[in-house]
Amino acid sequence: DRIISSQTQGGESQVDRAIRPQMLAEYIGQPIVREQMEIFIQAARQRSEPLDHTLIFGPPGLGKTTLANIVANEMGADIKTTSGPVLERAGDLAALLTNLEEGDVLFIDEIHRLSPAIEEVLYPAMEDYQLDIMIGEGPAARSIKIEIPPFTLVGATTRAGLLTSPLRDRFGIVQRLEFYDVQSLTTIVGRSANKMDVVLDDSGCFEVARRSRGTPRIANRLLRRVRDVAQVGGEEVVGEKVARRALDMLSVDSQGFDHLDRRMLLTMIEKFDGRPVGLDSIAAAVGEDKDTIEDVIEPFLIQQGFVIRTPRGRQVTKRAYEHFNYQLPSEDFK
Ligand code: ADP
Repeated sequence: DRIISSQTQGGESQVDRAIRPQMLAEYIGQPIVREQMEIFIQAARQRSEPLDHTLIFGPPGLGKTTLANIVANEMGADIKTTSGPVLERAGDLAALLTNLEEGDVLFIDEIHRLSPAIEEVLYPAMEDYQLDIMIGEGPAARSIKIEIPPFTLVGATTRAGLLTSPLRDRFGIVQRLEFYDVQSLTTIVGRSANKMDVVLDDSGCFEVARRSRGTPRIANRLLRRVRDVAQVGGEEVVGEKVARRALDMLSVDSQGFDHLDRRMLLTMIEKFDGRPVGLDSIAAAVGEDKDTIEDVIEPFLIQQGFVIRTPRGRQVTKRAYEHFNYQLPSEDFK
C-alpha cells in the first residue's frame, strides 16, 4: 500500500520486463560498479571462464536483480533465479546446482536468509564446484561428492552485514549499489517513458526523478501513475505541472518522502524531542517492523542527511526540523 515502497508490487512484472535494462551499457548510474563489472566480465570472457561469484548489496529497488540478469546476458549465459527464504532444504539447492550448465548464473536473492544447513552446501559448491551430500543415516551414513559444472553465483542482499563471514568471504566480487542521483534518475525516467509511450518533457522527467527516493523502481512506479493522470486529463505532453499534480496526489513530497518517511521523522521530532533513540523504540512508535525501518525507510533518510546514527541511537538532524518548519529544540542542534 506504500506508493513509494521499493519492494516489487503485483501487476508490474510485464511493464517492468520491457523497461528493465538488459546490458551493462543500458545500466544507468552506478559508475563505479559499471566500470568494474565491465572489466571483470571482459576478463572472464577472454579467459573463457565463468565470472567470479558476485555479491551485490544495497536497499531494495536499486537494481540488484537487474545487474544479476545483465551479468548473465553479458556472459552469454543462462540465469536461474531463486531466493534465500524459498530454499528450505539442502536438497532444493542441490537440485538447482546439479541442473546448472557450465557458465550459468545462479542468482540467489535475499541470500542472507539462507539457513545454516543450506549455506554449508553452498561452500564447497562455490569453492570447488562440488557437492558434498550425506546419504543414509547413523553408522551407515556416508558422504559422496558430486561434481557440478563451473558456474557463477550472484547473491543479493539489502545489507552486507547480514551475511555470515564464511559466506561473504567466498565472493570474489562485492558490489555495493548506492542511491541514484537525480540526473541518473532523470535519464531512467526518460527512457522508461519512451518505452511506456508517454511523452514527458525534461521538466516532467526531472520532477518525477527528484521525488523518487533515489530509487529506479520507485521512479518507474511514479511514472506509471503520472501516465494515468496525464491520460485521464488528456495531456499529451507531461511537464512539471502535470507531474507535480500527480505526485502531490500520491502524497509524495518535494523530498520524495512518503507518509512512512514523514511519520518516522515526525515521531522522532515530536515524541522523542530530537534525542537519539533506539531502533526498537522507533519501530514501536511508528508501528512498523524493525527490518522495514532498517532496510527500506532509514537508509534513504540517512543518505539525505535527515537522520544520523549515533552510538546512542538514531537521531534526526536540523534538516528534518527545517523540512517540517519546526523550531529547533536548542541553538546548538546540528
Ligand atoms: P532490486 O533487485 O535491487 O530490488 P531491481 O533490479 O528489481 O532492484 O530494479 C528495479 C527496477 O528498476 C528494474 O526493473 C529496472 O527497470 C529499474 N532499474 C534498476 N536499476 C537500473 C539502472 N541502473 N538503470 C535503469 N533502470 C534500472
